[in-house]
Amino acid sequence: MATIYHDSDADLAALAGQTVAVVGYGNQGRSQALNLRDAGVDVVVGNIRDYALEAAQSDGFRVLPIADACAAARCVMLLIPDEVMAEVYARDVAPHLGAGDLISFASGYNIAFRGIEPAAALDVVLVAPRMIGVGVRDAYVAGRGFPAFVGVHQDASGTARARMLALAKGIGATRGGCIEMSMHDEASLDLFTEQGFGPAFGRVMMSAVELLVAAGYPPEAVLVELYLSGEFAYSLEKIREVGMTRQMDFHSRTSQYGSITRGARYLALDAPLKEKMGGVLEEIRSGAFAKEWSEHQEQANEIFEKIRAIREELPFTKWENAARKAFKIGNASE
Ligand code: NDP
Repeated sequence: MATIYHDSDADLAALAGQTVAVVGYGNQGRSQALNLRDAGVDVVVGNIRDYALEAAQSDGFRVLPIADACAAARCVMLLIPDEVMAEVYARDVAPHLGAGDLISFASGYNIAFRGIEPAAALDVVLVAPRMIGVGVRDAYVAGRGFPAFVGVHQDASGTARARMLALAKGIGATRGGCIEMSMHDEASLDLFTEQGFGPAFGRVMMSAVELLVAAGYPPEAVLVELYLSGEFAYSLEKIREVGMTRQMDFHSRTSQYGSITRGARYLALDAPLKEKMGGVLEEIRSGAFAKEWSEHQEQANEIFEKIRAIREELPFTKWENAARKAFKIGNASE
């Protein structure tokens, strides 16, 4: 079983007298900096001179260039995009950290796969919310928690775990529960969700839409039936609340009978699906994906642009646009 930490396992006193530098003021940086400050932690924001700097200043933070913020702090939370982290760490962070200082990552990716190797004299920890940045702030303000993955990668000072838990408490994560995990496992799970689970799930949805439209049902009706009504999102919420199998009780007897009897037909897809997913997982765990990604940074923008152009022309997108407009869902003018 996993080790899970809660509020009572963490003590903010572990950060007493220490300045925490939040490096990057984006999705996670802003929310975590605000939460830490509200928890009574002394926070300085480290940022490049861009629009995020103005946001941090108008939120009332002391904002310094990244190198100066790291020099002023005993703990550094690195909350910049994973792709630029290795470079920024080597140039602006590492030279300004001293023995016993702590560096915290919100993703294990760079330690696990991209070769950031912090000096042995540093404490290195993982505090990775399982929540988008805005949710980290919203939950904190509402007095709720959210789950996070935490871990001690290096403990030079003997205080790494206490400080890691204090940081997790300061951002509000121990209210929800923090699961102990290695950097490699955290990064692998995260990538698998993005590459193994998400696309497979998306394929099921698109296959169903394509099949029903080809069978002659109006696209708007198909999309509303499958997910645009919000009923499906509601069911997912119920799965979260009561469990995958128990949520069936919320559905009609016809629905339950049909899904049990027809559901069994899909068992045959289990083995090939797991084989595909296993291949994806293996590429992640071996580092093959990280190597490929580091070699394709240039091409990525080209690929993203092409996909963005193509997706607007897909029948699927046109059906969605029409349905969203008809039912006034989201920004229906898009
Ligand atoms: P963002 O994309 O929101 O960017 C964070 C900040 O980094 C911004 O202030 C950005 O400034 C700055 N930045 C961008 N490029 C550079 C650079 N070259 N040098 C210095 N600063 C730069 O990041 P996230 O908050 O999404 O992610 C931060 C970390 O949190 C990552 O490790 C991520 O994996 C992790 N994480 C993210 C989650 C999420 O939901 N977003 C969830 C859990 C973990 P500007 O935008 O002005 O360029």
